[in-house]
Amino acid sequence: MLSAFQNAMQQLDAVAAIAGIDQGVVDVLRAPEHIREFDIPVVMDDRTQKVFKGYRVQYNSWRGPYKGGIRYHANVDVDEVKALAFWMTIKTAVVDIPMGGGKGGVIVNPKELSVGELERLTRGYAQAVKDFVGPTVDVPAPDVNTTPQMMAWFADEYCKLAPNPTCRAVVTGKPVADGGSEGRDTATAQGGFYVLLAALEKMGMAAAGARVAIQGFGNAGAVMATLCHDAGMKIVAVSDSRGAVRHSEESRQSRDDEESRTHDGLDPRAVLDFKKQHGTVVGFPGTETITNEQLLETDCDVLIPAALENVITNDNVFAVKAKIVLELANGPTTPEADVVLRECGVTVVPDVLANAGGVTVSYFEWDQNMKGEHWTETEVFEKLKPIMINNFNAIWQLAQEQKTNLRTAAFAVALKRLTSARL
Ligand code: NAD
Repeated sequence: MLSAFQNAMQQLDAVAAIAGIDQGVVDVLRAPEHIREFDIPVVMDDRTQKVFKGYRVQYNSWRGPYKGGIRYHANVDVDEVKALAFWMTIKTAVVDIPMGGGKGGVIVNPKELSVGELERLTRGYAQAVKDFVGPTVDVPAPDVNTTPQMMAWFADEYCKLAPNPTCRAVVTGKPVADGGSEGRDTATAQGGFYVLLAALEKMGMAAAGARVAIQGFGNAGAVMATLCHDAGMKIVAVSDSRGAVRHSEESRQSRDDEESRTHDGLDPRAVLDFKKQHGTVVGFPGTETITNEQLLETDCDVLIPAALENVITNDNVFAVKAKIVLELANGPTTPEADVVLRECGVTVVPDVLANAGGVTVSYFEWDQNMKGEHWTETEVFEKLKPIMINNFNAIWQLAQEQKTNLRTAAFAVALKRLTSARL
């Protein structure tokens, strides 16, 4: 099996050949501009000292400062961080924001650390990278297991070390009270939703009544479920790490009130309340419990993976019944399964476009910090919508012209933009 970075390089080579990208550009894009590797000493609560391994990969800056999250996870390794940083380079170019690509990580199981230890680890990370990040150089953000609070600690520490009027723009995803943007918490789903509506329209499918299954009921998945529900779509199944639930036929038939006739699916707000009380979506009234694997095979029009990578594989791809797969998660489809979906006529809206609403609003946060402005949520989404829809349309058109899939077209658009920006 190829590593994540080998996978990314295979994608690069394949698309570069199709899109006629200059070999010199491809050669430069085969390696990051900088790989920063450092130790972060942290005084633990019991006064012992532990050293954590940290990374910052600064992949490409032709289009602007490096941009990408910091991940806290026990399995972080430099190969994965490089791959994620490469994909950030593609993603920022896909939505055409003036940012490059980067990614960071720390090898740590954050669940084993107290709040105080996490704060010292995050401040330690900021100290370790202070000389090679900055608002015009490299702008980190949250990723897996890192939070807005941690970004506030990062900004605070950086501003102590490098005080200047725009120093808080060194990091995005901060709480609103600490210079974060309105709408950042829902931006990923909101951006994916705009793209989903555009895709349905291109495919001649009505949004109202479209049946949607969503894997993962976290920040991205739960908000997406609510947006789809409010647009008249039917949420037929949702899941979390503890299992999945499917709206059951019996409950559908037993309810004949107006709401059930127009919606006839799960009410995401009620599911969220239930999850808050019980810690999981499993057991939600009017549903049957299924596995996360069965959720992917559910009879639906739109399948939205919003949890983990590599969930649609050669083992289950032939059972996928959806007409559209909208990749809200990063990397949910393996390259082999991607080929099968294409051959089966399933439209895959790739992660680099589908979930790019998050990084776009991160860029808006940076822009507001640099200009000393604070935009309302309405302003934020008014700016986000055309970015998502116009780039979707451009990618759709290229895919039609080149008789290729949306992922290849998205990479081709990004590589062309990167080529034009090369110094
Ligand atoms: P989250 O932690 O808020 O939610 C993840 C959800 O997935 C949770 O409901 C969790 O229970 C569920 N989950 C975990 N393991 C699972 C499993 N084995 N099977 C099914 N469900 C499982 O995370 P999030 O912020 O919603 O991110 C979800 C995905 O979206 C990730 O791939 C992330 O990289 C991607 N993404 C998120 C953002 C963002 O702004 N939040 C931006 C870009 C991409």
